[in-house]
This record gives sequence, C-alpha cells and structure tokens, in this order.
Amino acid sequence: MKCASNAAGNRNSSSLEALGTHIAAGAVQNRPRVRTRLLAHLVDVGRQENHHFPIFARTSTEGEQAVRSRQVEECDSCHENPRASGHLCVVCDRKMLGPRLQELAVGSTPFTDIGTQFLSEWDSLNAARPQIKKVYQVLVPRDVRVRHNAYRTNQRATEEIRVFHSAQCICDMGTKTPALCNFKSCDICCLLKSSFNEFAFGDRFNTGRFGEGIYSYRNPSLANMHATAATSTPYRVMIACDIAVQSDFEVPDKESVFVPSADAIVPAFIIMYTV
Ligand SMILES: [Zn+2]
Ligand SMILES: [Zn+2]
Repeated sequence: MKCASNAAGNRNSSSLEALGTHIAAGAVQNRPRVRTRLLAHLVDVGRQENHHFPIFARTSTEGEQAVRSRQVEECDSCHENPRASGHLCVVCDRKMLGPRLQELAVGSTPFTDIGTQFLSEWDSLNAARPQIKKVYQVLVPRDVRVRHNAYRTNQRATEEIRVFHSAQCICDMGTKTPALCNFKSCDICCLLKSSFNEFAFGDRFNTGRFGEGIYSYRNPSLANMHATAATSTPYRVMIACDIAVQSDFEVPDKESVFVPSADAIVPAFIIMYTV
C-alpha cells in the first residue's frame, strides 16, 4: 500500500515534472501559447479593475503582438495588424477603395517571372524586342475580387488566362512613385482605377468584332499596337491581366481575346517598357 502510494506519488511528481518541461518547451517552441497566457492574465487584471474589454480586443491584441514580435508579416498599410489578404490586414483590405500599386524590384523573382512571360509571348515580325524598364504589381480592392469570383462561379469560368491590354497613357507613369493620374483622357489609369469598368472619357466598353466588351491579347506585341505614350514619360505602358474563361475556351493567337464583362478581367501588373 505504502509502496503503491509512493509509486503514485512518484508518478505524480514525475508527471508534474513532465508537465513543467512540456510548458517550458511550449514557451520556447510555441509562442502563441505564451501570448494566450499573457492575454488571459491581462483580461483577468482588466476584470479585477472593472475594465470592459471589447470582444475584438483579443484578436487584435494578439495580432498586433505577433506583428511586434515579428512572428507574422505586418499589414502594408497600417503596419500594426497581421496580413490577412495579400499585403493587407482585414481592416485595411475592407477600407481600400482603389487598387494599390507596388513596384517590383528589378531582378526579384516576381519581376523576372512577369518579364519572362511578357518576352516569351511577344511574337512579332518586327525584329525590335521590347525592354522592360519597370513593373508595378496591381493589388485590386476586395469588391473587385468578390465580383470576379462570382463571375467565375456563375459562368463556370474555371480557367484563368494571362492576357495583355494596352491603350493611351497620358500621364508620366513610371517616372515617379507608383500612382494613377486623374486625367479623364488617360485610358490606362481610368481602366486601372475602375478595374475595366470605365475607359477614358467615361466610355464603358471597347467595341470590336464581338461587339461591346473588353478586348485584350495573349501576344503583347499585338496589344502594343494600341499603346500610346505621353511625351512626359520614356515608357510605353501595358497592363497584364487575368481573364476567367470556360475550360474549352480557345485562345486566338493572332486576334484579340474578348470578354463581355469587366467582372471577367482583373488587372495584375503594369509593365513599363520601351521598344
Ligand atoms: Zn492594416
Ligand atoms: Zn494616367
């Protein structure tokens, strides 16, 4: 009996030791556990002091702590909350009205990837090859992504295809920090701000062989024929986009690709180049 009791006592103390080791290990390896304990402590203190903690405080405090201790990447806009959607936190993502532009560093993997795609799809009888000078990534607002996803579901458009669209660019895109202009005549900026819902001078569509809609090209050298650069910039400007199409869609090589609705097309990159 005594032995049994001792044995039980030993078991208890050894399992307590094990628990201590486990917690210690957790404290080192599993920081969220520490955060949760700290948070529980703060909530307790708050209760004792009769503070009323709003229900969202828990998530936001935990998130902010994780950002401060560099366990997760910070939101690009508020620099406080963790990223949830692309480069933004949930709050900033919901507040974003227009697209955000982010310059890709020359030589970085995304810069090289989009450059390789642009040059390999460029098919022209003209021997002159384009030179990419700058690339901005386009981060579209949440409502644009929601409409695009709804279009994909409703139209059973399960495939995404990379296409290129160019048009008149009136502003000095690419010569300063990434920004869109407010000229009504700047097709490129109107298209980006509205995510293809509005062209220059308020026009709603391109008009082409399939009627009203949006026309782009698989081959950027064909899109280049629509590029008009302003005198204030040395660059031509083209938008790399993703269009949603049905799986049996055949992409024409030498002709434009038509989509009937702005919800079918999402801008992804702005490419500034010379030919
Ligand atoms: Zn934020
Ligand atoms: Zn512009």
